[in-house]
Amino acid sequence: MRRTLLLNLLRPSLTERAPAPDEVGLSELAARVDRVARQRLGRSLAIREVDAGSCNGCELEIHALNNAFYDLERFGIRFVASPRHADVLLVTGPVTKNMREALWRTWQATPDPKWVVAVGDCAVDGGLFAGSYAVVGGVSEVVPVDLHIRGCPPTPVDLLKGLLALLEPDGAAVKR
Ligand code: SF4
Repeated sequence: MRRTLLLNLLRPSLTERAPAPDEVGLSELAARVDRVARQRLGRSLAIREVDAGSCNGCELEIHALNNAFYDLERFGIRFVASPRHADVLLVTGPVTKNMREALWRTWQATPDPKWVVAVGDCAVDGGLFAGSYAVVGGVSEVVPVDLHIRGCPPTPVDLLKGLLALLEPDGAAVKR
């Protein structure tokens, strides 16, 4: 027992080191998202996340935006608990048949004007799960999509870049 404890103390960590943070680039990107949101909306951006049937890989990256490493809220960008308070619906996963109605109702409950962002390859066209008996398909099969952010899963930086593309006046989408 003592030997095991001693070995555990001496062994190097088995986990991978975290990637070196590009703190300056990340801060600039997040600050730009907040600045453009204030120009277009007159306030900071409110996001409602909807898991329409994902494997949760995309959620892990979205949640990372709020962790101590990325800490997106310091730039005023908030995740809200209700679609009634949201400007953007961030939708992940292939839409499963069980979630079709819930996604449609969430979209209807979000006040206009609003944006829908489909996050991850599965949200584009069903990805790995396309053709499954349980899956309707991509998010655009159920609600209108303004922007797709590809990746399996997309990184937090990809997500920020996507939000910026959405918000910039000559960006990818028109607010509905
Ligand atoms: S895109 Fe990848 S990580 Fe995201 S839900 Fe699909 S399989 Fe999972």
